[in-house]
Amino acid sequence: MRRKISVVVPSYNEEGNIEVLANRLVQVLKTVPYDYEVIFVDDGSSDHTLDRLKSLGSLDANLYYLELSRNFGHQNALKAGYDSANGDAIISMDGDMQHPPELIPQFLEKWEEGYDVVYTTREYQDEATFFKTKSSDLFYGVLNSLSETKLEKGTADFRLIDRKVANVLVSLTENGLFIRGLIKWLGFKQYSINYVCDARFSGSSKYNLKKMINFAVQGITAFSVRPLYMATGLGLFFSVAALLFIPYILYSYFSGEAVSGWASLLTTIVFFGGIQLMVLGIIGMYLGKLFMQSKQRPNYIIRSTNLQRVNHDLVKL
Ligand code: UDP
Ligand code: MG
Repeated sequence: MRRKISVVVPSYNEEGNIEVLANRLVQVLKTVPYDYEVIFVDDGSSDHTLDRLKSLGSLDANLYYLELSRNFGHQNALKAGYDSANGDAIISMDGDMQHPPELIPQFLEKWEEGYDVVYTTREYQDEATFFKTKSSDLFYGVLNSLSETKLEKGTADFRLIDRKVANVLVSLTENGLFIRGLIKWLGFKQYSINYVCDARFSGSSKYNLKKMINFAVQGITAFSVRPLYMATGLGLFFSVAALLFIPYILYSYFSGEAVSGWASLLTTIVFFGGIQLMVLGIIGMYLGKLFMQSKQRPNYIIRSTNLQRVNHDLVKL
């Protein structure tokens, strides 16, 4: 029996990219000796993305869409795709042509060699993405220094995973998804491919600074509790320092030296106030994650789909 490849594409306001991508994908998928399906996940787009997706059927009968009830974010949209795909291997990629479909045969080759995960690390080519490259490098640097799960710089959500990896991923019910970290954490036999990231074909990046910071915080707090320990360490350090200061204060009191400047006093108060707030914030961040997780809300909700096997009211954790 021919095996089947699923391709999952989270798409948020990608009206200008859908048709080009679908065409290029079909062109590539027709050349490989597998059955295939492409599942576009419309992540609550406010443009004509969904209309474009609905009309893809005329191009190829193996193109499907999944409409989420609102914008749930890239990672949740990706999870929706993984959950509903039923291929023997699942490939995920962005819907903006930054991930060249022409790499897919290479993924499949490695898969045939026995690798369970074929992931990619990107290289940017143009200068315009200087900020993105630098901020991305910084993020991976911080993440790797804090977490046991190490990710290579520029790891992207452009990868192939085998059915057995997908089964584990689908069974995970955690909120605050950081899928590239989860995949690394899962283990299995992994192979990395380096590729040059193309420029976006149409539209602009959906990750503004705020979303990028959220994503980075999400990634770090999902994989490391070290910031909590660091908070304890920081508190300990300053308490000891304060203790050491007491003999000096007592000495100046008894020797009759008046403490003069309020500036030093004020600086100390502001400094410690800041540290305390920061530490409380770190603790609050984790507490918030626990709170959200305890509600057991689904990561996404499906509004409609033309995939027969997916229940219209399917709600997956
Ligand atoms: N995306 C999504 N939901 C969102 C934001 C982004 O599904 O809330 C999709 C987007 O359509 C694209 C992919 O995630 O296919 C990556 O987003 P983008 O290209 O904007 O990120 P960048 O490449 O700039 O990091
Ligand atoms: Mg992009």
